[in-house]
Amino acid sequence: MTIEEKLICDYFYFENFTKHIKTQRFKEEHGLTPKIEEAIEAILETKTKEQFYEELVKRIIKDHRSELNCCPKCNEIARTDKTKQCIFCSHNWQ
Ligand SMILES: [Zn+2]
Repeated sequence: MTIEEKLICDYFYFENFTKHIKTQRFKEEHGLTPKIEEAIEAILETKTKEQFYEELVKRIIKDHRSELNCCPKCNEIARTDKTKQCIFCSHNWQ
């Protein structure tokens, strides 16, 4: 997750985050540079909360697919990292 993505997740998580994001203390504690602040504002102007999360999940899955436990038959992500049965196609593997 990028710094911008993490800060936006915090933004959505904390209801009064907007009050804190403008304080110098918050900026220093979270490494919020003017460049990152601009990037966050640009993202929030163009996307809804749901769009942001959907795109974030898709990007993380795409970037880390090789690290995930995926079904060898249909390539969907398994329910847990240890399971050996696919919830999508019911394939079992060892
Ligand atoms: Zn499968």
